Amino acid sequence: MKTFGLLGFPLAHSFSKSFFESKFKILGLKDCEFLLFEYSDIKDFINVIPQIKYLKGFSVTSPHKENIIPFLDDIDVDANDIDAVNCVKVIEENGQRKMIGYNTDHYGFHQSLKPFLEPKHSRALILGTGGAAKAVAFSLKKLGLEYWFVTRVKNKNVHAGNLFEYSELSPLIIDSFKLIVNTTPSEMLYGPQAFPKIPYEYISTDHLCYDLIYQPEETRFLINCKSRGAVVMNGLDMLYAQAEKAWSIWTK
Ligand code: NAP
Repeated sequence: MKTFGLLGFPLAHSFSKSFFESKFKILGLKDCEFLLFEYSDIKDFINVIPQIKYLKGFSVTSPHKENIIPFLDDIDVDANDIDAVNCVKVIEENGQRKMIGYNTDHYGFHQSLKPFLEPKHSRALILGTGGAAKAVAFSLKKLGLEYWFVTRVKNKNVHAGNLFEYSELSPLIIDSFKLIVNTTPSEMLYGPQAFPKIPYEYISTDHLCYDLIYQPEETRFLINCKSRGAVVMNGLDMLYAQAEKAWSIWTK
């Protein structure tokens, strides 16, 4: 038996369970199961791990991508740089269970973005400053692109120097950053009225606008950008790519 799963809270709309269960079916893997580990307190999950037999790996989602790190035995160098883990591989070594952390979000983002990138997309605005924003920033850095974060309030001592507040987004700024990536979860959580408040009237046909949200498929952010002629994409391709990468890490 091999057990995989997803850790997070809440997990009401889990893509991972149906994705991996259909993968098991397609590959004829009758000895694999995928469980949901829905814990608001990470320590409760850590305490039950010894009772989860045959655990080979699990994905990690909000709010545990950062607070899982102290409980890992090892961390991949990229995940360490990003400071967020969304994939854990479980191995047995000398009769001891070990957990190794990875970040597959940056891989998924890179894979999905690359076919759409053109030289004019050399500067990016990243809306939001959470775990997904850090993975996006890591990926953009690897691609050699300049990026600035956009935050609601500059009251945190993070990303200092490369940070705008939404109220600072002038026509010149929107015009000089031709790639805009939304990593805020607000439309997914609160509906279309919670779209990111950027000056959409300055978006042009030269812009590439990417929303990490995949549910709904087309957010108000994407609709607004598309109405200005921008190329738009949602987070579905990233979601599939990061899940496939997790599978290859668990099974290699
Ligand atoms: P998060 O840490 O909860 O939030 C990201 C950032 O968004 C926050 O740091 C905050 O930045 C901003 N934010 C939070 N609530 C907001 C609100 N109500 N209005 C405006 N801004 C708000 O989430 P995350 O883990 O980074 O994930 C972000 C999104 O990416 C989620 O929707 C998630 O589903 C999606 N995601 C998709 C994929 C994929 O494969 N497609 C992978 C990973 C994540 P400030 O405080 O600086 O404003």
